Amino acid sequence: MTRVAFIGLGRMGHGMAGRYLDAGFTVTVWNRSKAKADDLIARGAQWATSPEDAAIDADAVVTMVADDEASREVWLTKDGAAATMKAGTLAIECSTVSYEHALAMAHELRSRGLVYIDSPVTGLPDAAAAGKLTLLVGADPADLEKAQPFLIPLSTTIRHFGAVGTGTVYKLINNLMGAIQIAGIAEGLAIAEQAGLDMKLVLEAVETGVAASPQVIRHSKRMVARNFSGATFTAALRHKDAAYAVALAESLLSGAPIMGRAAVEAYDRAKAYGPDDDEGKMIEIVSRGKSSKT
Ligand code: NAP
Repeated sequence: MTRVAFIGLGRMGHGMAGRYLDAGFTVTVWNRSKAKADDLIARGAQWATSPEDAAIDADAVVTMVADDEASREVWLTKDGAAATMKAGTLAIECSTVSYEHALAMAHELRSRGLVYIDSPVTGLPDAAAAGKLTLLVGADPADLEKAQPFLIPLSTTIRHFGAVGTGTVYKLINNLMGAIQIAGIAEGLAIAEQAGLDMKLVLEAVETGVAASPQVIRHSKRMVARNFSGATFTAALRHKDAAYAVALAESLLSGAPIMGRAAVEAYDRAKAYGPDDDEGKMIEIVSRGKSSKT
């Protein structure tokens, strides 16, 4: 049976690991905090004591952790997965990391005889659990072909952008545009509220107007209702992605006005206010100039 090691069982990774169980893979899991694995273990996953332990005999190791630092920890530290992966094993990075990090990891893991591809995702945790993610892949075509059996259980769409790192470039621009949009909606709606407009009418106009996008429509409703329940992308993660994207913009668009900087600053405040809160709480930051809950 095909063996997959899955590392990182947060909001996204937990559902993704479950997809491999549903698809009949032999699944070994590791997470920094074990409690998040309990129900997966009850469903048949094997618990590993470290990423290194998880990777023993795996045909592919898939990671879904927070950021560059977490990625480095789970691949490369002394009990990192790379230590026990057999030559030629697939290392599939689904975490959203920086472009620089994706290239550095590809280089480092390749030098150890491993095959690193970047495959960050779009879709919220409910899509992760349902196998309905879109995967944004950077890989040599032959590596992608080899990885397909491990990508299919997670996704409805696989977009191959080119060589290693290109999936991450697209993910970062996608989330940068999202960060700017969400901060922009929050600002626009806060202005309308402060000016005393009928917010039901404003919402109707926003949803049917030229500035509408699926993201604008979803967030504007939630912001006006101050309803931030359900599947979530946190302020801390949005800040991280925007900061990685701005670093890329600064390296490629020298001398240009970088609008993402304003989004990074706004999400820096949202992160200080509530790092694990839904990113949509940006409306509370711009409404009252808040930067902390105290
Ligand atoms: P999350 O719920 O905060 O989970 C983060 C995961 O990373 C947890 O498993 C956490 O372990 C682990 N982690 C953090 N720091 C670590 C470290 N230093 N060493 C080892 N493990 C560490 O985040 P998420 O929403 O699942 O997001 C995971 C990734 O997917 C991120 O890169 C995010 O940008 C991306 N993403 C998220 C969404 C979304 O809607 N949420 C959508 C697309 C992409 P613990 O459980 O022990 O804390």
